[in-house]
Amino acid sequence: MSDLHQLSVKALASLLQTKEVSAVEVATRFLARMGGNPHNAFLDIDSEVTLAQARASDAKLADGTAGPLEGVPVAHKDVFVTRDFATTAGSKILSGYRSPFDATVVQRLRTAGMVTLGKLNCDEFAMGSANENSAYGPVQNPWDTARVPGGSSGGSAAAVAAGLAPAATGTDTGGSIRQPASFCGITGIKPTYGRASRFGLIAYASSLDQAGPMARSAEDCALLLSAMCGADLDRDSTSLDMPTEDFAASLNNSLDVLRIGIPKEFFGEGLAADVRAAVDGALREYEKLGAKLVPISLPRTELSIPVYYIIAPAEASSNLSRFDGVKFGHRAKDYTDLVDMYKKTRAEGFGNEVKRRIMTGAYVLSHGYYDAYYLQAQKIRRMIADDFQKAFKECDVIAGPVAPSVAWKFGENANDPVADYLADIFTLPASLAGLPGMSVPAGFGAGGMPVGLQLIGNYFKEAQLLNAAHRLQQATDFHLRQPKGLQ
Ligand code: GLN
Repeated sequence: MSDLHQLSVKALASLLQTKEVSAVEVATRFLARMGGNPHNAFLDIDSEVTLAQARASDAKLADGTAGPLEGVPVAHKDVFVTRDFATTAGSKILSGYRSPFDATVVQRLRTAGMVTLGKLNCDEFAMGSANENSAYGPVQNPWDTARVPGGSSGGSAAAVAAGLAPAATGTDTGGSIRQPASFCGITGIKPTYGRASRFGLIAYASSLDQAGPMARSAEDCALLLSAMCGADLDRDSTSLDMPTEDFAASLNNSLDVLRIGIPKEFFGEGLAADVRAAVDGALREYEKLGAKLVPISLPRTELSIPVYYIIAPAEASSNLSRFDGVKFGHRAKDYTDLVDMYKKTRAEGFGNEVKRRIMTGAYVLSHGYYDAYYLQAQKIRRMIADDFQKAFKECDVIAGPVAPSVAWKFGENANDPVADYLADIFTLPASLAGLPGMSVPAGFGAGGMPVGLQLIGNYFKEAQLLNAAHRLQQATDFHLRQPKGLQ
């Protein structure tokens, strides 16, 4: 079968269960597509490891012990530690690092039967919105290779969009699943904070970091999300003690009684006209599907930028102190004493954006500035969460754009980090509140680039988000369109 790379996770899973294809055949097909590393999407590929996993899956399929996703390939963002592949988090400081264990998410997907294709490029330590901050070079957007794929899960989004993997994992601290999914025309969901274990996820900002799936459709995301989530209290005390859910069970529910909140702050100045047109089109589809649009307000939307860019760097400055050349990865060669070794290792190992954030974080936490910046930001963070709860009294889900524009061209924001920060405006509020959010393909804008619709749900309402996304995908075909050369 030559078109295996066009198939959904669901279709592949069913062909594998009925033994119409073998896991080795599927893995071989994707490995062939990954040859030459198109779009620079992967950071580590090891076909021996992948094929060994595929053979193990075939054995399980043969003896009736197969998991629900047995033999379906997946690739992992390089911030999840893996025993069998190197893990770098896109940083030179971890070059060649190999973890002695697998992250819980990696392990859970393997238990469900998924075969690992390799590790995906990303912004260094997941800090970025364009994948231009990877120490291993940028990822190209498969829709237009002169444009960024979004970030920080840029490799994940590009790999799925280019048919190099049927699904991928991503992480979202301030938008890193939703925004690259939007820029590359795929579907991605960041669940409620705590749904998926952070054990083995290299920490960026621990109170915000969350793992989630990226795939072509909401249905595929639901299958992965069910397998990924679950309590892991011994290893991540912030993981939620909640039963695992079958997120695919309610995909077809009617939207007749659904109230969709439209925050006016998401549609103001700064939103590109092409993005607005695509998002409006999706909202009209929802009305046809029976949903009711309700105007709402999220008055502190703008404040989410300074609040996030204080809290996230503050946590990062603490989390990244563990990379000092002693235990992990890179160590400087010539040094005079221990402190000199730390300094040189960190100066050589970290890229500019990571250094910028460590310095910002150390500053906002320092004596004399803590109250003015960090504490103040924490207070506003709480107000942002309260604004959402007020809004959810009037609506069930919230809809708007994922990003103010389509994917920009390489270099456009390269000397202006703040321009990248500002582009996070619509994804940061849900992150700060810990709410689930997703990106659903909603059409195309300037240059034929994909536009994502953002859906935000209340805590634990992932099933409702996936239901709303799935119904839209039954009525539209944006998620099925592919970049040129892939049709
Ligand atoms: N763009 C945001 C940042 O740079 C979000 C990144 C993320 O979610 N990991 O921090």
